[in-house]
Amino acid sequence: MMENIVTGPRVDVEPDILSEGCCGSQDCENKSLKFSDLSLEDVRKMNENFIKERNWDQFHSPRNVLLAMVGEFGELSEIFQWKGEVSEGLPELTEDERKHVGEEISDIFIYLVDFASRCHIDLSKAVIAKMAANAKKYPVDKAYGQANKYTDYQ
Ligand SMILES: [Mg+2]
Repeated sequence: MMENIVTGPRVDVEPDILSEGCCGSQDCENKSLKFSDLSLEDVRKMNENFIKERNWDQFHSPRNVLLAMVGEFGELSEIFQWKGEVSEGLPELTEDERKHVGEEISDIFIYLVDFASRCHIDLSKAVIAKMAANAKKYPVDKAYGQANKYTDYQ
């Protein structure tokens, strides 16, 4: 097990977890990967401790965190830049590239949780509320198999 590098909740994560999961093969039966358990609050606490231990809280204004997250989207986009279309599971990418994708989406996710926290928005509640709102905007009987914008279903 990886040593707990922060003084927050212990999360047992193997270092090679980024390369686990779907193999990326077109023939893979595991098309819908199930995530390991990790709560948004665990991520928030781990990141809070990480930042405090380094005295970086002074730099993490909502604006700065948002811009840092946008920068991470750029880093993720670079992996896909000029490659053409890629399939689910990313079989067109090398193992190193797939690992890099996991690292960059983690950067984005950590900044997203930090941003929500600094905006005093309970991200868990916000996600549940938004999913409920989306279900109303896109009723199954009207939106099934359609790619229209929700205004077409009103
Ligand atoms: Mg990054």
